[in-house]
Amino acid sequence: MKQVLLPRSLNDLWAMMRDLPDAALYAGGTDLLVKIRSGSIPPKDLICLERIEALKGVVDHGDRVAIRAATPFSQLLQEPAITSHLPVLAKAIACLGSPLIRNMGTIGGNICTASPAGDTLAPLYVLNARVELASEAGVRSLPISQFIQGPGQTLLETGEILSAIHVEKPHPEAIQHFEKVGRRNALACSLASMAAILRLSDGGIVMAASLAWGSVGPTVITCTEAAERLIGLPLSMDRLTEAAAIVQKAVCPITDIRATADYRRAIVGNLLLRLCDLKMENS
Ligand SMILES: Cc1cc2nc3c(=O)[nH]c(=O)nc-3n(C[C@H](O)[C@H](O)[C@H](O)COP(=O)(O)OP(=O)(O)OC[C@H]3O[C@@H](n4cnc5c(N)ncnc54)[C@H](O)[C@@H]3O)c2cc1C
Repeated sequence: MKQVLLPRSLNDLWAMMRDLPDAALYAGGTDLLVKIRSGSIPPKDLICLERIEALKGVVDHGDRVAIRAATPFSQLLQEPAITSHLPVLAKAIACLGSPLIRNMGTIGGNICTASPAGDTLAPLYVLNARVELASEAGVRSLPISQFIQGPGQTLLETGEILSAIHVEKPHPEAIQHFEKVGRRNALACSLASMAAILRLSDGGIVMAASLAWGSVGPTVITCTEAAERLIGLPLSMDRLTEAAAIVQKAVCPITDIRATADYRRAIVGNLLLRLCDLKMENS
């Protein structure tokens, strides 16, 4: 018979992971339990991270924010460190799933699932987030862009968990933007999404740009060439159109039941053009 274990501390967790090396971890269960119920993953012993307080909450360290991995999305939306300093992430979370999914689902689960459509991933890439991986032997940390290797593939090793995500706060005047296109507003897997962090000078010149797209490749696509096309010049529709043409070549979307590759490529460009509206809102 399969068991579900509910450790209350990291020490309990390490002991359980040692005793049951084939058990699967879960936090909210909104990805894993759905896969087990649908039969795409066979039933296993399960270890739930939900009751481990050391894996929950957000710590504001002044110039950076630590987000503990088993924090549910709805709690993240109550945290000033997220809503005030990381609005690009808050916007992605606010449109993820539905209220029920946001109450159960966690940021750590979203990262470890490593779906190309994971809505927090593009924001975490533009924030240059680092993931903290803990095991009984200690802690290591990696940039998220290295940790995620492909759809469903990460560098998590046996005996390790994702314990936290570390993000440096962007400049307070940076424009932070996230937009997702789906077939409806709630409970829609994104057809394409874009996260952007831009810094403009007082005269409207782009001083820094970090751009990432979700759902249009095996992992999040960042395009330095497109960002560089914007830097040093005023943010204008002409520059954005040039950058959009570059990124449309860089992405590699697939055709599936939700949308064709060509449609996704068109969305990618249009999402970038929308940054011109942001400039108006912030000027
Ligand atoms: C109806 C529905 C709608 C959804 N809508 C969206 C959406 O709009 N956008 C979106 O991005 N996702 C969506 N999802 C997917 C899902 O809700 C998210 O990916 C969520 O973040 C998963 O978090 P979780 O805690 O529930 O993960 P779990 O199911 O608990 O775990 C997922 C995977 O991550 C591993 N894992 C979890 N936490 C850790 C950890 N701390 N350390 C190591 N491994 C860990 C588990 O072993 C498992 O393999 C939806 C799901 C459903 C069912």
